[in-house]
Amino acid sequence: MMNHYRYVRWMFLALGLTAVIGLTVMNVYSLYALHDNKVQSSVEKQKRQLLEYTNQVRSRFRYPVRSLWQLDMQELQAALTSPSTMSHDLLLIIDDASRDSLFSDIYMSTPDCTPCERFGDPVWQYRKDIGSFEQTTNYSRIVSDGLAITRTRMNALVQDYRWNTRVIFDAHNSMTVTLINSDSREVVAYLLFVIDQDYLVNSYMATKLADTFGMGDETGIIVWLHDWTKNEVLATTAPDVPYSYQNVDFIQNFPDLLNNWNLKATFTANPDTAASKASLNRNLFVLGVAMLLLLGAFIFMFFTAQRERSLAQRQALFLANVTHELKTPLAVISAAGENLSDGRVTDPGRLKSYGSHIFNESQRLRAMIDRLLDVARFSSNGIPIRKVRTSLVPFVNDYLNRKSSYLKSYDVNLRVDADEPVPEIDVDPSDLQSVLDNLIDNAVKYSPDEKFVGISIRSNGNFVDLSIKDRGAGIPKEYQPYIFEKFFRVEDALTAQTRGHGLGLSIVQDLVKRNDGTISVTSTAGKGSVFTIRFRQSDKVTEEQTTYTADTKYSKEQEPEHVS
Ligand code: ADP
Repeated sequence: MMNHYRYVRWMFLALGLTAVIGLTVMNVYSLYALHDNKVQSSVEKQKRQLLEYTNQVRSRFRYPVRSLWQLDMQELQAALTSPSTMSHDLLLIIDDASRDSLFSDIYMSTPDCTPCERFGDPVWQYRKDIGSFEQTTNYSRIVSDGLAITRTRMNALVQDYRWNTRVIFDAHNSMTVTLINSDSREVVAYLLFVIDQDYLVNSYMATKLADTFGMGDETGIIVWLHDWTKNEVLATTAPDVPYSYQNVDFIQNFPDLLNNWNLKATFTANPDTAASKASLNRNLFVLGVAMLLLLGAFIFMFFTAQRERSLAQRQALFLANVTHELKTPLAVISAAGENLSDGRVTDPGRLKSYGSHIFNESQRLRAMIDRLLDVARFSSNGIPIRKVRTSLVPFVNDYLNRKSSYLKSYDVNLRVDADEPVPEIDVDPSDLQSVLDNLIDNAVKYSPDEKFVGISIRSNGNFVDLSIKDRGAGIPKEYQPYIFEKFFRVEDALTAQTRGHGLGLSIVQDLVKRNDGTISVTSTAGKGSVFTIRFRQSDKVTEEQTTYTADTKYSKEQEPEHVS
């Protein structure tokens, strides 16, 4: 049933995670779509602005002569036979246009247009000073070219043309307005306006480019006014950015005019799209971090759940073990007690044996209870620490003296090896004693054949190392990371046959840590292990210690030698 719940829990968690990932992906997708839309609409707007710009340039040309179509062309046709009777209305319009800096000169030609064919034939030139047209033969090629182009096109057009004016440009050189008698479909006159290119480019178009699109490369667009016949940039909104055809995203031609020129544009990030991009990136970053955290939490939960499960398993095993081990000595004690209380045992030898059974088993019980209490106390961090300045060599010697009967009972081959002098350390003596108890117990317990315990005390920079070495079973590499965990026991035959609950090393680690030390292990399966604890030396160095090396073989018959 429990298993069932666990699967359901994981299933819901996985579903939740999938939903969150799905939502995140959707979110990212819609953010991208939004950003694309923004960029797209900004580009569309800029394209419309480019077209609008060309229309405005066109209307700038038309503006000074916009009233020409209102003239009575029949009247004008009659009047033009003699320039002295030139229409007053026409002269007013021409005079207006002549004051516009866009045009440097204004010429007129009759429909026969002799200057179209013969350069130098007289043409009428408007004179601002006298306010009327005067014949001249002194004019530039631009005039005859513009007239010739217009006449050729009008010859083809005029029969089908229904309006009374027609504007035709000769590139950026001149604009010619043909006046037409739309009833008779005849050309009345040609009015040619010579364009002042310097004014057009520098004073009008460049200024207007800056006004419309802004200057610099951070406005979202760079526009070049380009003469494609000469591959020459006439004006630009970003003088620092060199023109290159590879950068051009869009080309806008001028409708019906300035046909050697066009506008070329590159779309760059503008503040709007840049802000949208920044917000997209911010969102992506936050989502990425959130996803990582989520995944991290998921993995963490998975592993902690695994750990908890194995801890629970080990605890259950521990409980079974403890119960078993508590029951065994209790059974022996109660059987012995029962026999004694019956008064059936009178033989002094047997009485002694019962007594020692009861004593030994109660000792075992006590040791076991002490250990359990230790665990309980350390896990609640309840015991205050009392650090004392300690000289390790005499401390270990004293300790080994006290431990001698134990070592003797196991026939231990002991070797102690110490540096001279060894700096003092600050530790709680009872903690250090428990550490040594546990490590030496293990060295003896897990050495099935030769019971060797090597203790070395070494000064190591600012630290002092205390190592306990054995030549026992060793710990396979794969188990080494876990041996300091509570309730962990190596899964092998020797450990299974050896009494223990997987608590000793966890207690040792807690004790070492609370004394600001560290513990490490090196071990080779089949060869033995070395546990090294390291403490920071205290400030003062004791001088009186001497190098100490001794081998002591404990045998069950012989009293242990004192080590000093
Ligand atoms: P236990 O009560 O089982 O001895 P410990 O915490 O002291 O618990 O040790 C954990 C496990 O580490 C032991 O079960 C044993 O398998 C392994 N171990 C500890 N010390 C040694 C050692 N000196 N040699 C080989 N294995 C050891």
